[in-house]
Amino acid sequence: MDDRDGKIWVNGELTEWREAKTHVLSHTLHYGMGVFEGVRAYETAEGPAIFRLQEHTDRLFNSAKITGMTLPFSKEAVNQAHIDVVKANNLHSCYFRPMAFYGSAKLGIAPKADDVQLIVAAWPWGAYLGEEGIKRGIRCKISSFTRHHPNITMIKAKANGNYMNSIMANSEAHQGGYDEAILLDAQGYVAEGSGENIFAVKDGALYTPALDVALDGITRRTVIAIAKEMGLEVFEKRITRDELYIADEVFFTGTAAEVTPIREIDNREIGIGERGPITAEIQQRFFDIVQGKNPQYRHWLTYVK
Ligand code: PMP
Repeated sequence: MDDRDGKIWVNGELTEWREAKTHVLSHTLHYGMGVFEGVRAYETAEGPAIFRLQEHTDRLFNSAKITGMTLPFSKEAVNQAHIDVVKANNLHSCYFRPMAFYGSAKLGIAPKADDVQLIVAAWPWGAYLGEEGIKRGIRCKISSFTRHHPNITMIKAKANGNYMNSIMANSEAHQGGYDEAILLDAQGYVAEGSGENIFAVKDGALYTPALDVALDGITRRTVIAIAKEMGLEVFEKRITRDELYIADEVFFTGTAAEVTPIREIDNREIGIGERGPITAEIQQRFFDIVQGKNPQYRHWLTYVK
């Protein structure tokens, strides 16, 4: 990822991609205390538009607050940085990675509070779980790794260190020949994917785990709004693993994963064993919204002009 042309916003400056480096003694590299976001911009008839940018920036600042990190830039500056990197890299659609981390000023457990570095990078990125996955659905495995406990890592924070758990679960799933992991919480209830929220469809209603164990996903919020518009009831409640097995449809949501159907869990076919009709309808509405084809949701788009 490092050897390419382009610009990355680093602490307020658009920096050459290849020069956007940090020292090996950077605090976050050692202990994982950092916060980040994943954001997308889509190509629309009026140029690139960033989806729900303000909400991503708000979550970044909340993650910082939770972890006790003071960000050295305003929310407005972070929003503007997203716009600047789209323009500087001539992007039509992209994935953004804003991230705040502690630099190398001090390496004890307690970081130097004012040594916070902030970057915003952007690059083209297609379907995270594959185009085929979006159309046909993916195969998942319940992970042997338990999802975070609310008083160990902070679940409402999208914090770098939290993703060790995600990486181990995702790697385990891949090694077993599956596309993605589904993690259970410490009580054994369904939590989320390694980087996605999860929904089940049963008898025409939508079920998703409450937010005590899962990240408050912005795509999750979007899908709940879409489902309500479709007249579907949405229940945020505890879900068990076997409820997923016998659901009519199951799908993941996430900025990277968008809306990805799950066609198999633990070698059990889910519903018809391919993308179900409600998932397909939600997907269609989701892509219409992000691509600016639904004027009702224009306020969720930040157009880059
Ligand atoms: N859960 C986890 C653990 C994630 O990393 C993500 C991706 N940010 C999500 C859920 C989905 O969140 P969002 O829809 O805001 O991308």
